[in-house]
Amino acid sequence: MVQELPKYAYFEGEFVPFEKATVSVMNHTLNYGTGAFAGIRGYWNDEEDQLFVFRPLDHFKRFLNSARLLSFDLDYTPQDLWQVLLELLRMEGWKANTYIRPLAYVKNSLIGVRLHNLDYGVTMFSLPFGSYVDNEEGCTVTISSWRRVDDNSIPARGKITGSYVNSAFIKSDAQRAGFTEALVLNKDGHIAEGSAENFFMLRDGVVYTPPVNADILEGITRRTIIQLLRDDLGYEVVERNIDRSEVYLADEAFFCGTGVQIAAITSIDHRLLGTGSMGSMVSELRDLYFNVVTGRIPKYRSWTEPVYEDVPTTVS
Ligand code: PMP
Repeated sequence: MVQELPKYAYFEGEFVPFEKATVSVMNHTLNYGTGAFAGIRGYWNDEEDQLFVFRPLDHFKRFLNSARLLSFDLDYTPQDLWQVLLELLRMEGWKANTYIRPLAYVKNSLIGVRLHNLDYGVTMFSLPFGSYVDNEEGCTVTISSWRRVDDNSIPARGKITGSYVNSAFIKSDAQRAGFTEALVLNKDGHIAEGSAENFFMLRDGVVYTPPVNADILEGITRRTIIQLLRDDLGYEVVERNIDRSEVYLADEAFFCGTGVQIAAITSIDHRLLGTGSMGSMVSELRDLYFNVVTGRIPKYRSWTEPVYEDVPTTVS
């Protein structure tokens, strides 16, 4: 399938045709990885003829925090960014599942690596988007030989462009070795996360996930899942360090994130988890999650922001 491109971008404070949103080859962020970004999903709901954006204010809050870690001085609130996104999506008029990419970057073209005394900008674009991994119902996983970036080198809790070189090493080596994805250990040797996903496992009826100080991104899907597991599916969820050998003994495990959504892990380093196919906890959670993000669960409706509510209807 040919990937449909955005028609518009928010760039330099205005909405421009997508092909006009460009930077110089000397751009600071392009050369040094000095950027912060977000990944947000919009879900198309056919019955309601509506596009729902999932937790946009939470994503924009983390986006601004990632930029703060880089000392970017951005003159936007999460609400401002939501208004930009709303206008952008209405211009695009997507009637399909959508991926949204806000990026904060250094505008300057100059030689000299630093974070201070620079000009900072925000750009945003959106495009129709399906699955991030092909096999959401059965990922094969290995433990990466790479280590997760450490909080004292590039903080993983920020979504910082340069740190995705670490993710790219992890992902490519896993895929070239024939696996779907990898789990990466942090400097202490504990499980951190996947290349671009948070990790959960079920063992003896209890769900475990690494804590926010284990060199992970503080995922918005992670936070969502913890609440769904506890409040709706009745699981005890424990945030604590996880050893490498524990994951081999898990009954079920999964990745979660905006891109990957919820993807069942069915083997780790060739050891089958449970029966070797998606288990009942992950299956039940996936069903609930897809109903939540598409605005179908009244209790969680406030997490989903409708895009087309105020668009005047054409009377035929
Ligand atoms: N960890 C990493 C490294 C990621 O890139 C992502 C995707 N943003 C996640 C976890 C999941 O975060 P979220 O649920 O906020 O998308």
